[in-house]
Amino acid sequence: MIPALMPTYTRADLAFERGEGAWLYTAEGRRYLDFGSGIATASVGHGNRHLADAIAAQAHRVMHVSNLYRIPQAELLAQRLVAASFADSVFFCNSGAEANEGMVKMIRRAAYENGQPDRFRVITFEGAFHGRTLAMLAATGNEKYLKGFGPRVDGFDQVPFNDLNAVRDAIGPHTAGIMVEPLQGEGGIREGSTDFLRGLRAACDAFGLVLGFDEVQCGMGRTGKLFAFEWAGIEPDVVSVAKGLGGGFPIGAILAKEHVAKVLTPGTHGTTFGGNPLACTAANAVLDILLAPGFLAEVARKGALFGAGLTTLVADFPALFAARRGVGLIQGLQCVPPAGEVQAAFMAEGLLSVTAGENVVRLVPPLVITDADIVEAVALMRRGAARCVAAGGREAAP
Ligand SMILES: *Cc1c(COP(=O)(O)O)cnc(C)c1O
Repeated sequence: MIPALMPTYTRADLAFERGEGAWLYTAEGRRYLDFGSGIATASVGHGNRHLADAIAAQAHRVMHVSNLYRIPQAELLAQRLVAASFADSVFFCNSGAEANEGMVKMIRRAAYENGQPDRFRVITFEGAFHGRTLAMLAATGNEKYLKGFGPRVDGFDQVPFNDLNAVRDAIGPHTAGIMVEPLQGEGGIREGSTDFLRGLRAACDAFGLVLGFDEVQCGMGRTGKLFAFEWAGIEPDVVSVAKGLGGGFPIGAILAKEHVAKVLTPGTHGTTFGGNPLACTAANAVLDILLAPGFLAEVARKGALFGAGLTTLVADFPALFAARRGVGLIQGLQCVPPAGEVQAAFMAEGLLSVTAGENVVRLVPPLVITDADIVEAVALMRRGAARCVAAGGREAAP
C-alpha cells in the first residue's frame, strides 16, 4: 500500500530531532555532521538562535497579511538586497522554481515591452537544474524528469555548458534571453568559466538579450561572495535566489535591474505567500549574519581550508576520487565508483552529503561551519573512503 507521505523521494532511514550548527541529532542521540545542509539551504546552521528567535517573535505578532498591504519586513529585505547587489528591485516568492518562472516571465515580457513580442525563447544549458514546474522542467531539459509529463513547454533552447560558440549559434530572431547557473549545483558542481560568463554578458549586450542567472543554489554567500557571478566581474540583468536565503525557511526572490524589473507592473505577476512578514523576517535574520562585516571573507577562507583537505583526500584515494570541484563552501568529489556508494560510506561514518550529476558527491555545509568541524568532516570522509575501498572495491582498491 502506498505510504501516506507520497513516495516521490528515496529517503535515508534517518529522522533528525534537532540540530546545532553543522550537527544534526537523531532521536536516539546519534549525531551527523551535515555537509548537505538540506540541499544547500540551512545556510546559518541548525538551531540558529538569532534566526529562530526572529521567526518566533514575528510568528507571535503577525505571519501573513497578503500583498494587498504594505509589508515593512519585505520592504526592508528588498532594500538590503538592493544595497548589497547589482539589483534595483526585488520580487519575493516561495521557492527556486517559482523564482525562475518569474525570471523567465520577466525575460519574455521585457522583449514584449520592447516591441519584440516574437522574442520569447530562452537559451539554457546542458546539466542545468531550474526546478520542477512544467516550464522549468523544459528549461532544465533533463529527459529523466520530463518523461511522461506531456508536451514539453516550448521556448527553451538548450546548448552545452561553457561553450560560447554554441550559445552564439543558438541565438536567433526569437531569442529573448539566457538563463544559466554560474555554477551548476545539481549538474555536478560545474563552474562556468570566467571567460564563459563574460562572453554571455557580451553576447547579451551585442544582441539585446536579457542575461538571467539562476543562483538558487550557488548564491547567498555559498561561494564566498554574495553571488557566484561576482567572481567573473560582470553583472547580470536578473538573478533568482532561494535555498540559502531563508536559512531553512521557504522563500525565493528575483533581483533585477530596473529596465527588466519595470516590466512586471501591477497585475502582471503575483503569489499569495510571497514576501510575507514571517518569511521576510527569517531572510532578514539570515542577512544579519551573511552581511556582517567579514562573514563572506570567512566563507572563502573556510572554503579554501576545506578544498585543501579534499584535494589531499583525492590524492590519497585515486581509486575512489577522480577530482575535486567547486569553490568556497560548495564543493564536490567526482567519484570513480558510483557516487551513491561513497555517499553511503560517508553517512556510515557520520557525515551527510548529497549526490549530484556527473557521479559527484556534493559537499555544502552550513556557511557558519567552524574550522574544527571542517577538519572533522575531512577525517570522517577519509574513514568513509577507507571503508569504501575495503568494502567493495576489490577492483577499485589500488
Ligand atoms: C534547487 C534548485 C532549483 C529549484 O528550487 P526549488 O526551491 O526546489 O523549487 C532551481 N535552480 C537551482 C540552481 C537549484 O539548485
